[in-house]
Amino acid sequence: MYEPTNESQPTTTNTTTTTNTTTNTSQTTPALAGVCLVCGGECAVGDTMCARCDGLMRGWLREYPAWLDSLHEFLDSTAHYGGRQPGRVNLPAAPTPIRLPVLDHMQAIEDAAIALWRRLYAPPAMPWATYGVHPPLVDMLRVCAGSPRLRRMPDIADFYHEWESMVRKTLDIIDVPPSKHGIGRCPNPLCGVELSAPIDAVEVTCPVCGGTYRVVDVRLGFLKECIASGKAFTAGECAELLCECGFQCGVNTIYSWRSRGRIQPAGKNGKGQPLYRLADVHRQLSRRDSI
Ligand SMILES: [Zn+2]
Ligand SMILES: [Zn+2]
Repeated sequence: MYEPTNESQPTTTNTTTTTNTTTNTSQTTPALAGVCLVCGGECAVGDTMCARCDGLMRGWLREYPAWLDSLHEFLDSTAHYGGRQPGRVNLPAAPTPIRLPVLDHMQAIEDAAIALWRRLYAPPAMPWATYGVHPPLVDMLRVCAGSPRLRRMPDIADFYHEWESMVRKTLDIIDVPPSKHGIGRCPNPLCGVELSAPIDAVEVTCPVCGGTYRVVDVRLGFLKECIASGKAFTAGECAELLCECGFQCGVNTIYSWRSRGRIQPAGKNGKGQPLYRLADVHRQLSRRDSI
């Protein structure tokens, strides 16, 4: 969804050809443009960063408050496993490996924001700034994103690359769709709200009724609902859901049923992949299992 600087390539190709034609006329031609210290492209005189790199970096700083919310939600979603309480033993199945790196990552974001804010707004001659006093994180991000001095910093490349790799890491955590995906409805008949859980979670706590349920049971409920309603999915999604519910069903099995005419796609998704009704796949599966 968010693509950081995959396409921040320098755009110098046509400028070099034009300057080549004028090099022999004089060597006194003043530099009409500066060089972006990040991408090597052309930028305004006196600036150290081109408009494109500048726009990307400010964009990250502006997006971060929302990304931090997502990170926080991701962190909290497993908080009921109690991994941080001393003396508490974690079950081997608890998804704690995910959470502590997220915590570290959030700390790294705050550290980077402090470093950038200090670089822009707090010269070492201001003692209070060097003694750990700084505005709240969200304010620092906002102020830095709007700072006209950002594109004049002589060491901007160091900061840019630090933020660039941090953004990648953040988006790896929050932007992978299955990191926290919808798994089905709350099994409580009086509740029935849509539940989501991190991938590989074993249990899920309903935020509405407060009940804790096994993810397998929620998935099984979702499977039954999809079978009843005739919902269709890609072969991979069908196989995944069925496997989660304890059926043995691989993608290749579904493909072979199709080639033998035992099932027919019920349509296509936006990417042109064929969609199969879960009910059809499940029917074939039951037939095979019964043999
Ligand atoms: Zn640039
Ligand atoms: Zn509930």
